[in-house]
Amino acid sequence: MARVLDLISRNRDPIGLLEHLSGGTVYPHSITPLAGNVLFLCRQGASTRLGCLGQPDTALQFQLTRAEADIDRTLLTLGLGETNAHNAAALRALVPHTASSCLGLAKSVGLGDRLGIATPGHIRALRAAPGMRPILAQQSIREMERTARTPQDVIDAATWGVLQEGWTDGYGSDADHLKTRADIDVCAAAGFCLYTLDPRDHVDNAADTDDAATLSAKLDALPWSRLETSLPALRANDADQSWDIGDRALTCNDEELARAAVKYGSAIAHLAEMYRHLLSVMGDRPFEVEISVDETETPTRPVEHLFIAKELQRLGVRWVSLAPRFVGRFEKGVDYIGDLTAFEQDFAWHASIARALGPYKLSLHSGSDKFSIYPIAARLAGDLVHLKTAGTSYLEALRTLARVDSPLFREILAFAIEHYEQDKASYHVSARIDRMLTPGALSDEQLPAALDQFDTRQALHVTFGTVMTQRTSFGALRFRDRIYQAATLYEEEHYAALRSHFVRHMQPFINT
Ligand SMILES: [Zn+2]
Repeated sequence: MARVLDLISRNRDPIGLLEHLSGGTVYPHSITPLAGNVLFLCRQGASTRLGCLGQPDTALQFQLTRAEADIDRTLLTLGLGETNAHNAAALRALVPHTASSCLGLAKSVGLGDRLGIATPGHIRALRAAPGMRPILAQQSIREMERTARTPQDVIDAATWGVLQEGWTDGYGSDADHLKTRADIDVCAAAGFCLYTLDPRDHVDNAADTDDAATLSAKLDALPWSRLETSLPALRANDADQSWDIGDRALTCNDEELARAAVKYGSAIAHLAEMYRHLLSVMGDRPFEVEISVDETETPTRPVEHLFIAKELQRLGVRWVSLAPRFVGRFEKGVDYIGDLTAFEQDFAWHASIARALGPYKLSLHSGSDKFSIYPIAARLAGDLVHLKTAGTSYLEALRTLARVDSPLFREILAFAIEHYEQDKASYHVSARIDRMLTPGALSDEQLPAALDQFDTRQALHVTFGTVMTQRTSFGALRFRDRIYQAATLYEEEHYAALRSHFVRHMQPFINT
């Protein structure tokens, strides 16, 4: 019996044929042969449907409603079903490139998608500016809680986006900023590959400025048994040493060692325990780890980076990337704020350490929109770099709204300004309300400019969780469904906005 792909390919208009049969608008790149059948995605109104055209006796593991279809006098079966979790899991099992995998040390970009509808736009950017391996499923526990999304929702959204665009080059998945074992458990169950471990709650930021007596008391009180060493042993190994890190030497005197140990000692013990928990949860499933200490109050000094890496290695932790907190300000959604020469010197130290002690990648968190530092990072890190972005994709959805649905965008903008003070608490931002562009001050044509004005952009960035979960006095979601509707109705505009935004992000890292 002829294969279904051959049968429909012989038709003058294969897409039109599938659209006629399914009653939906077919995504052309989604057409995927599978064991003699054809899978595809189509849009029916606001929802996306999975289609499978196959031999009548086909038994695939999808939940589909089946009907007969006659093509050139060949009797086939057309199944149509929801893009739900069951079908996503079946798709990943049957079509391996729709499942995420480990990316190792490949130069990479994290494309967090808070709304779960940006992956096709991300893929278009990757095709336009190839050279970085993508992480298409990425969300921190904090942001999942804020938007009422589950780790499974995040994985599934990437799966469907990959099928929709016919992306066969593979992708990673990043369970971002995990702080507890429970965070690990829920993300492991959803099938993530990269686990970003965040020990921020165990970092002692005061260690930078503690007086000698306080420092000494804290040093004695460190959890030495959990660290599987002792203060004398640590001193004998590390104090007053000079470390050769390739192109330079780093010295660590006794005081620096003491401050690093007090600042990060408990965090290192916590990380080692998280790592061992992850090992036992994952069993023989492949996984990889990122260490993130970027959300501390003060920058990670080179000697501290060295200390963290050496201690974690001593405790058996392995990782593919590490995010220090670099000098300067990495505020949400805007360019780097600080002295570029200072950044370059700082980044060079971290890059040398990552190369000498790993190699592992340096991860740039809150990495979106930092256009002025990309050339520096690309030059100094080479391929050993990971650029992590998240909220900036939501802003491109808002940019699309500003162009196609000005009443809705005006409402969101006013709401964002109103809620900024309250919502900014857990973010690094410095926007001021008195400088923001208010809806009343902008014509319809000027609305997209609100996305490019520093203060207004940050307000829109940090309020996304409140916007997505805000309810009216009748209990209905105030914005959420309308945002999805508009972004779906105008999905080509949305994808185009994402494409150009991310080409700009990736270009500086390509061919370096
Ligand atoms: Zn981070």
